[in-house]
Amino acid sequence: MKILLAASEVVPFAKTGGLADVAGALPLALEDLKKEIIVAMPYYKAVSSSKFKTVRVKKDISYSVMGNNIKVYFIENAKYFDRDGLYGDKDGDHKDNLERFSYYCKRTLELLKEINFKPDIIHVHDWQACLIPVYLKTLFAGDAFYKNIKTILTIHNIGYQGLFPKEEFPKLGLDWSFFNIEGLEFYGKINILKGGMEFCDIINTVSPTYSKEIQTKEFGFGLEGVLNKRRNSVFGILNGLDYSIWNPSTDKFIAKNYSFQSIEDKYKNKEELQKTCKLPLKKDVPLLGIVSRLAEQKGLDILAEAIESICKMELQFIILGTGDLKYHLLLQEKVKKYPKVISLHLKFDDVLAHNIYAGSDIFLMPSKYEPCGLGQLISLRYGTIPLVFKTGGLADTVKKDNGFIFGKYTKEELIKTVKKATKAFEDKEKWTETVIRAMQYNFSWEESAKKYLQLYAKATSQ
Ligand code: ADP
Repeated sequence: MKILLAASEVVPFAKTGGLADVAGALPLALEDLKKEIIVAMPYYKAVSSSKFKTVRVKKDISYSVMGNNIKVYFIENAKYFDRDGLYGDKDGDHKDNLERFSYYCKRTLELLKEINFKPDIIHVHDWQACLIPVYLKTLFAGDAFYKNIKTILTIHNIGYQGLFPKEEFPKLGLDWSFFNIEGLEFYGKINILKGGMEFCDIINTVSPTYSKEIQTKEFGFGLEGVLNKRRNSVFGILNGLDYSIWNPSTDKFIAKNYSFQSIEDKYKNKEELQKTCKLPLKKDVPLLGIVSRLAEQKGLDILAEAIESICKMELQFIILGTGDLKYHLLLQEKVKKYPKVISLHLKFDDVLAHNIYAGSDIFLMPSKYEPCGLGQLISLRYGTIPLVFKTGGLADTVKKDNGFIFGKYTKEELIKTVKKATKAFEDKEKWTETVIRAMQYNFSWEESAKKYLQLYAKATSQ
């Protein structure tokens, strides 16, 4: 089976979020399963200015190799990609994003024929690659080379759809007849994600629960109707976690390595973390950690309402993140009021993140919605018990025997569950059992990649 993975960001070349982690890890896992896979992404300034070794294929195409022999093709175009920011800069989204990603999609399809790589499956990710299934069934439909290629679209967060004014439609090179309810039209605008959803063979999201949730009005961001119409072609596969990076027994960033067989060493990390964060050195007080974007999606709205009550409990609280200014200000105010309870770090800091995962007892992730979520997967591996709202990937991975879950999105439920967790922490023997159990959960990419292969097989047999 031959596969092309098309994504607008891929680790290690360019990253703004979880999409890049998936697009970087899934090809490696598929290669391990002996599949032939190539990747195509834009040649951003972030890529051209770094030191990746590239091989030139054409005037505007080069590639780099990842894994053993996965070619990652770069679509070059100075006008579109040689600038700061993948999708935007400090002034907001790039104004020509429609042209930029339409160019990327078209050029990627042309490239397949030029290098004579006819995939069985094109696996596209998020709106930036969604014109590939659209073009395949329109502009490229007359060319025999592209016949029988199947497409799978993975939606990483349905909140990002690629919306543009109707007036830009001619830039796509498509006939106006595709600007309709069965095509790319969405309440009078162009919706690129919707185009992908209408034209691809299979739609997938990054957890089983999220794949159901987005078919409802509450989580569908207006696209629930399209998904409902295609409900027999909608699936959910959990993202894996890269355990070569997130492993407490080899992690180079943390104070003391440990495994589920030596969890007493985990508490050395707690002590070091308390020192770093200038909190009182108390072993028996539960330490709560947060590593997150500080945004409403991540539950900051109910946390903001609950934090006063939480700070009055017998616990410590370390927060690492950046995001909405209103949450920065509110948290700074609480630090002033409760300096011995909260330690606040308003920045992106990978090293501190590793130390929070290792040194905390409880990891707080009360996301309002969560397509998959990595934080809870990481914290499980580090024996830091996740406390989550029951949604999306959190509902699929955090259970009663490895974490704390609340089912109603209110500040009262959040406070109640934090209380419950701190109470459970008092029973040391039982707590240790939970920690050991949590650390043994396995969310490796190998499992997820096997499920993707089943989906690819389903698509090719249609
Ligand atoms: P998102 O919706 O932001 O992609 P995920 O839980 O899927 O949420 O992934 C977030 C990733 O980014 C995790 O690996 C988390 O540890 C990391 N992260 C988030 N904020 C920070 C920060 N301020 N510093 C370091 N790492 C962070």
